[in-house]
Amino acid sequence: MKIEKNKSLKKFNTFGIDVRACKYVELYDEEDLKKILSADEFKNDSKLILGGGSNILFTKDYEGLVIKNSIPGIKIIFEDDKSALVKAGAGVVWNDLVLFAIEKNLGGIENLISIPGTVGAAPVQNIGAYGEELMNKFHSLKGIYFETGKDAIFEREECRFDYRNSIFKKELKGQFVITYVILQLIKNPRPVFNYGTIKNELDKQNKENYSIKDVSEIIAGIRKEKLPDPAVTGNAGSFFKNPEIDKSLFLELKKEYPEIPGFTTPCDKIKIPAGWLIEKCGWKGKRIGNAGVHDKQALVLVTYGNTNGSDILSLACEIKISVIKTFGIELTEEVNIY
Ligand SMILES: Cc1cc2nc3c(=O)[nH]c(=O)nc-3n(C[C@H](O)[C@H](O)[C@H](O)COP(=O)(O)OP(=O)(O)OC[C@H]3O[C@@H](n4cnc5c(N)ncnc54)[C@H](O)[C@@H]3O)c2cc1C
Repeated sequence: MKIEKNKSLKKFNTFGIDVRACKYVELYDEEDLKKILSADEFKNDSKLILGGGSNILFTKDYEGLVIKNSIPGIKIIFEDDKSALVKAGAGVVWNDLVLFAIEKNLGGIENLISIPGTVGAAPVQNIGAYGEELMNKFHSLKGIYFETGKDAIFEREECRFDYRNSIFKKELKGQFVITYVILQLIKNPRPVFNYGTIKNELDKQNKENYSIKDVSEIIAGIRKEKLPDPAVTGNAGSFFKNPEIDKSLFLELKKEYPEIPGFTTPCDKIKIPAGWLIEKCGWKGKRIGNAGVHDKQALVLVTYGNTNGSDILSLACEIKISVIKTFGIELTEEVNIY
């Protein structure tokens, strides 16, 4: 275990913000994690678990201990005729797990291809894309409480998954580290392609049947077109969540903006694409200093060159103000701000 001091986090967050961690350690197993959590040396330090840094905006140096979770390993731990339980270490790159599943023809997470970050962070915000969410194939997870160093297992219900949310992003934020995740994936899978333009793209291939690999490749291609590559342009994907509003407000807005898109949620609210609201307020492609709004997807805030996290935060603030003034809708951040 190597404790580094005053470590730059520029390479460890996809916005590429150059802040420093007072202390930094990279860990590869639960035992070392427990040693760190119980060590007197770090008892009074605030602690931040870092995965791939793709859902984080740093606005200042981190005055505590950053623990980069790199616990490895993917394996099938149980299978029957219908499904397989796949266990992965929290430090596994999420996309590697997706590719593992596709290669074994185990279905359920192929639509979540190309989402950056680690397996351990995936339950934190119940990652989702193209009509799928992690919670749909989630079995359980293991982790450790910071305070007591005790292990705990969480089954699906206990995680309180919601749209880009879970108990780990709310009540247990900064108190619990996820070490392993188990997913229940489907044998002889049927791909899900009734979302967005996936079906149109598949039709161009003129095949009778589509595999999960076909669908994943289409989605990976669409994502590459639409989203900026963090290796080239700093970003953390969607900066805001899609707001859910009452039907009455939606109907009011529809009078003034007949083209406003909205989708009914299971709780009978209407979900509005935040990107549409932001674009309508004229922000798409705008740049203030070294912070900007992506020109192909207004939900993504980007950095140009050396940007402070606070520049991004100020831009986000201005966007929120104009959306509330125009539509009476309050946007909330999907990205974790530190
Ligand atoms: C280009 C781009 C596209 C994206 N597209 C999507 C998308 O389609 N759908 C989607 O849902 N997200 C998307 N994201 C957001 C991001 O990829 C996911 O939220 C991802 O799960 C974050 O993983 P990470 O390892 O980078 O987490 P980090 O950014 O390192 O951490 C995020 C939060 O989780 C906590 N955390 C991390 N690991 C653990 C752990 N092991 N235990 C406890 N807490 C932990 C951190 O403390 C932090 O609060 C996108 C991001 C980018 C840059």
